[in-house]
Amino acid sequence: MGWKTLDDMKLENRVALVRVDINVPMKDGAVLDNTRIARVLPTINDIIAAGGKPVLLAHFGRPGGAEVAELSLQQVVPALSAALGREVTFAANCIGGPAKRAVAAMEPGDVVLLENTRFHKGEEKNDAALAAAMAALADIYVNDAFSASHRAHASTEAIAQLLPACAGRSMAAELAALEAALESPSRPLAAIVGGAKVSTKLSVLRNLTERVDHLVIGGGMANTFLAAQGLGVGASLVEPNMIETARGILDTAAEVECVIHLPRDVVIAEAAEADMPTQIIPADACPEDMMILDAGPETVQALIELLDNCRTLVWNGPLGIFELPPFDAATRAVAEKAAELTRDGALVSVAGGGDTVSALNRMGLAGDFSYISTAGGAFLEWMQGKTLPGVAALRASR
Ligand code: ADP
Ligand code: MG
Repeated sequence: MGWKTLDDMKLENRVALVRVDINVPMKDGAVLDNTRIARVLPTINDIIAAGGKPVLLAHFGRPGGAEVAELSLQQVVPALSAALGREVTFAANCIGGPAKRAVAAMEPGDVVLLENTRFHKGEEKNDAALAAAMAALADIYVNDAFSASHRAHASTEAIAQLLPACAGRSMAAELAALEAALESPSRPLAAIVGGAKVSTKLSVLRNLTERVDHLVIGGGMANTFLAAQGLGVGASLVEPNMIETARGILDTAAEVECVIHLPRDVVIAEAAEADMPTQIIPADACPEDMMILDAGPETVQALIELLDNCRTLVWNGPLGIFELPPFDAATRAVAEKAAELTRDGALVSVAGGGDTVSALNRMGLAGDFSYISTAGGAFLEWMQGKTLPGVAALRASR
């Protein structure tokens, strides 16, 4: 903990500047995925219910400090209004006259959305003057954008030092879930790290080795670890320049008594294509012309038994090429087990990462996990053990 929530703030008759992440995918003026909008509704509704006035602060795309008409947040207003069941007022600038007038005109129950913060160069520079101009609009600051909090920007970091600051509902839920998973977990604690490459998850692996009791390495990156143990991986995806690094991680794990779990058997095929003829072989015997594309049934069985004995699971990265059945089998079987244990109250399960969340959604299992982080980059930085500037600023707030 160490940060305030909405429950700690006086909200009645106060203007609350709420940093949200409504950077939603759009096509032809329509929002393609409403997930991010749905996540900010509890905070906005709770502020209104307490008699406060929510003024929303957000970025949209990458305008790079210029006013780019196609990246105006105005286009999100219809979807946001529909989701809230209230007409949202739009202000054409996040500071200055337009913002001040919109805020001054607010009646109880009104919601104002301010224009894209990234239209100002100072946003990505964490500029104090821009933060002060935004802070001048409000009485308190609420950060409900965990997914934007790995960046020290004026609307996530500098501003939190200028106003009494707290976490919004989604932010508080995400922080609580992540703390329960890695900072003060029930043990034994297992992590599954899969996906394509060791090189993109090096700091994640290093941090987790220090923290978890069991580290499962799967997906394409497991091949590099198999190679590091002198096993042949045939034509599989492998990173030769990461083999030394992989050995180092195995050595560190042995020192800190973190048990590393690598595939015992694997599913191989001639190419990474759907519905290829497959074989199951021990993980030490991949022929030269074959590729490892999923973990095998013996490995899956071992992981299921491991989960039976764990209390907490953190998961990032699929165990195989889940996009191409049948190479989704291991990811699916282990996800089903994690979902079942979570439903039974035997396991706390947290998963994140773009492809991981998409795999769990596709399998219809995301709802059964204790928490699914859709924060992308912020989730990975947290997995690396980094302090997120937006979160640190909340902790430091008066
Ligand atoms: P996330 O987005 O959840 O962080 P990654 O982007 O690291 O996950 O990894 C996902 C990718 O890893 C998927 O596209 C998947 O096809 C790929 N992958 C998984 N197993 C293998 C494998 N054995 N060989 C090659 N690629 C793999
Ligand atoms: Mg990915």
